[in-house]
Amino acid sequence: MIIAKHLTKHYGKNAALNDVSFAIEAGESVALWGANGAGKTTTLRCLLGVQGFEGELTVNAIDVCKNSKVARAAIGYVPQEAAFYDMTVLETLHFYARLKKAPAQRVSMVLLQVQLEEHAAKRVNMLSGGMKQRLALAVALLADPPVLVLDEPTANLDVKAQRDFIHSVQNLNQAGKTIVFSSHRLDEVVALGTRVLVLADGSLTLECQPHELAEKLGLHRWLRIWVAAHHKQDTRKVLDEGGFTYMPNGRSFYVQVNLGGKIEPLRSLEAASIPVEDFDLIDGELVLQGANHD
Ligand code: ATP
Repeated sequence: MIIAKHLTKHYGKNAALNDVSFAIEAGESVALWGANGAGKTTTLRCLLGVQGFEGELTVNAIDVCKNSKVARAAIGYVPQEAAFYDMTVLETLHFYARLKKAPAQRVSMVLLQVQLEEHAAKRVNMLSGGMKQRLALAVALLADPPVLVLDEPTANLDVKAQRDFIHSVQNLNQAGKTIVFSSHRLDEVVALGTRVLVLADGSLTLECQPHELAEKLGLHRWLRIWVAAHHKQDTRKVLDEGGFTYMPNGRSFYVQVNLGGKIEPLRSLEAASIPVEDFDLIDGELVLQGANHD
């Protein structure tokens, strides 16, 4: 469905992409993984045909360089945060259906696909971030393209909205859409990806299955656990005895877990009758940048 050969993009002397080659089969859901500046967005912009590049790129067997408009028609694009005019959800979809020359009947179909039927009469500026992102997905689906390209689609959403959005995209992938998305969220990659392409400094450095990513890159996951102040000492004792790597942070503890063992610290605390007030699973990088140890 997508074939990239020796993709290279320079900005001045800097190579944003350097000789990147990959192939994506129809029906795959491929994650582009990489730190800020790794080249994910540049790769997606090449796919969309909105910037020049060296190398070869075909989408649905159409050459992006020679025929960018036709190649682009095979792609529905969802940005990180879409902006909409002040209209209702239904008006917005009819507006874009006209722009994309999609049949008006597609509007009710895409509303159903992204579970926004009940919100059709709402004004867009009354929608939550998650609903707005699902509306952007609906817009991308109007012309029924075989490929969906999503640029860090859940980066600005809360946990529940992330899950709902990922669920919608999973359904679309199962229904046959080819998905390409950039991400630096492990949860999202594992939930949605069937394969991961890892970019670093503009080069493709690794290709693997989503469940292999954490181990191959030496990433850690952290479980943040909140306990009552009077249980802090006991919690330390339980985590020490369980051999966990952890960092206290105010009323909470960051406990290092692997993907399969994320409930082990919770089990240990339960066994010691220490009530957990709340918990959250987060990426290691975030903790290392943001934690305020005591
Ligand atoms: P992020 O997660 O921050 O979006 P990314 O992996 O998407 O990162 P890109 O946006 O593709 O990375 O950027 C790759 C490199 O190209 C970076 O070094 C970036 O500074 C550079 N770059 C991107 N766009 C431009 C531009 N318009 N002009 C100059 N340099 C650019």
